Amino acid sequence: MLHPVTLIPGDGTGPEITEATRRVLEATGVQFDWDIRQAGIDLMAKCGTVLPDEVIDSIKRTKVALKGPITTPVGKGFRSANVSLRKKLDLYANLRPAKTYQGLRSRYEHIDLIIVRENTEDLYAGLEFQKGAPELDVMIETIARTTGIHLNHDCAISIKYISVLASQRIVRFAFEYARCHGRRKVTAVHKANIMKCSDGLFLATAHEISKEYPDIQFEDRIVDNMCMQLVQKPELYDMLVLPNLYGDIISDLSAGLIGGLGVAPGANIGSHYAVFEPVHGSAPKYAKQNKVNPMAMMFSGVLMLRHLHEKDAANRLEQAIAQVIAEGKWLTYDLKPRPDDPTAVGTSQVADAVIEKLHKL
Ligand code: NAD
Repeated sequence: MLHPVTLIPGDGTGPEITEATRRVLEATGVQFDWDIRQAGIDLMAKCGTVLPDEVIDSIKRTKVALKGPITTPVGKGFRSANVSLRKKLDLYANLRPAKTYQGLRSRYEHIDLIIVRENTEDLYAGLEFQKGAPELDVMIETIARTTGIHLNHDCAISIKYISVLASQRIVRFAFEYARCHGRRKVTAVHKANIMKCSDGLFLATAHEISKEYPDIQFEDRIVDNMCMQLVQKPELYDMLVLPNLYGDIISDLSAGLIGGLGVAPGANIGSHYAVFEPVHGSAPKYAKQNKVNPMAMMFSGVLMLRHLHEKDAANRLEQAIAQVIAEGKWLTYDLKPRPDDPTAVGTSQVADAVIEKLHKL
């Protein structure tokens, strides 16, 4: 079967890891009809946007995309193309597995966590008011009138927005995933002791939805305690479901538990479309150096194969990557004891090694 897939190389180190991933995916024997679409910071000057409409149109046609990272300027400039993509396609669930493989340098063994991050609202909703903007004054006046709290005008405001609908569907997604994949427990993560309204709503909704799934254990943790627990005893946890910002932070923390961002995959899933991408960003300082680890994107490719019902190819690709990790000969700098280790190989050599293993399976 030929699978139409939108392929977005992205920017920074994105094109190199995308090419490495495309090669290993094709080596599984699965047939892809790639629709290659450009998005990213390099397009800004030429097209005035980092995310041209044709990218969205392509994903609406193929339903599935494999995406490299895209740079977003910090504190200024255009809004994130990654956030826009997730919003435009209503990719409400961000799935981020964190799993240890033999040979990864990690303080832990046998971690197999699934993190489900809400992807559309919370502090990422884009409800922001810049210092000095006229809209900010209106906000400050409204807050004073409705709450009696008088804010300084030298401030900026970002609104944390959490709805029942989005909380219901993300928690349901987590429980459905747990059922389909034989998981035993879902932990909702929040800060409802302080943000009683927004996080309180998320937590109350999670409790309500959990009643529909009596076969799966449910519990909740306050986010700061969750961070400590994950560092001390990650084996106690199975699946976590979180609002957007906590999900982003905890999934990087979990990537740290399993050997780093170089091996942490992700998927953005909605009711109609799915976009697979590594957790990490564009690492622009290493662009065009054939240096960074393509495994996070390759593992995202494994998730994509499962989504496309290519279970056998997914298992073989995961096994081939795991064998390369266990062998320890063809690893990039980030998986070595020291970043300047002279035995570290480049992005494309990792792809060659994975393909060789695939051919032997
Ligand atoms: P980053 O993930 O790009 O890099 C963080 C650290 O991890 C750096 O030291 C980097 O060198 C290292 N690293 C990242 N990927 C690696 C890999 N595959 N192999 C080895 N080492 C790797 O995070 P950042 O520096 O905070 O962000 C850079 C840019 O990426 C920013 O513009 C950010 O907005 C963007 N970003 C994009 C996405 C996305 O496209 N989904 C996600 C996160 C960040």
